[in-house]
Amino acid sequence: MEVIKGDYSQTKGIPRSGLCVGVHRAGAIHQKMVRKHGDGLVVWSLRPDLDFIAFEKDGLGVQGIRSTNDMDSILPESERLIYGVRGAPPQIRKKAQEMGLELLADATCPFVTQQEEAELELLEQGCHLVLLSSKTHHGISRLRGIAKERGREVYIVEKEEEVDHIRLTRYEPIGVIVQTTFWIDTYKKITVRILDRFANVRIRNTACIDSLQRLPEVEKLAKQVDAIVIFGWTEGMTNRMLEVARAFNPNVYKIEKVDDLRLEWFRGKEKVGIIGANETPDWMVDEAIERIKSMSA
Ligand code: SF4
Repeated sequence: MEVIKGDYSQTKGIPRSGLCVGVHRAGAIHQKMVRKHGDGLVVWSLRPDLDFIAFEKDGLGVQGIRSTNDMDSILPESERLIYGVRGAPPQIRKKAQEMGLELLADATCPFVTQQEEAELELLEQGCHLVLLSSKTHHGISRLRGIAKERGREVYIVEKEEEVDHIRLTRYEPIGVIVQTTFWIDTYKKITVRILDRFANVRIRNTACIDSLQRLPEVEKLAKQVDAIVIFGWTEGMTNRMLEVARAFNPNVYKIEKVDDLRLEWFRGKEKVGIIGANETPDWMVDEAIERIKSMSA
């Protein structure tokens, strides 16, 4: 059996670590802050459980820095603040100021910031906001927080047919933004339906470069193998990768750790593909490949 690894080495916009730009950059910021300031660093994060997994080998999160989504757990006298890669709602930023916390760095992904700017622009233009996104994505609370500050609601649309449930009339202005990790094919279908139903629509494509580059690699690999393993745990990118892979291959499996691999997935298969998601470092994918090879030897 041949194991084929999803190859990002020639893919523009994906760092050599295999991580997406946002996560790679946030890890570098956290490491720099630990080197510079030592102990007492706290990352406020929408997903504190995920922040340091990709940097396990660098020892990040073991000492000097912790991650939380509980502002009340932060001690202003002894801890200093960093915002995590997934950004922070305005209400959290305001509370940090009120608590007198010292902000050392903001590791929010630039694509997340870009998405917030697009949202603000559309709200300022008087648009009702429609977000094309999975219903459980962690970014929803952040975008709802921004809209709430301006007395607006955010309509979440995940599937084409949900466009018909938006409680707005044909001529009301609609501003559309996209979850950063949304698959462009789904995005196009929903957008067509929105343009059918509404007359005054403004669209900002806020999908991140990782979605635009990583998902075509999944499609390419899914088409050339008998079974494909998606190695990831993020609800955004990992789920999009599963969606894309399933569109092109009937044998798609997801693992969050090497121990999740099962020999029966590979029985009778000549070519097996494996590809990492945006928070899965390249070295973890290599470990999984070694395990697949030893399991099937
Ligand atoms: S997946 Fe995209 S939006 Fe999310 S952190 Fe990575 S680069 Fe940023």
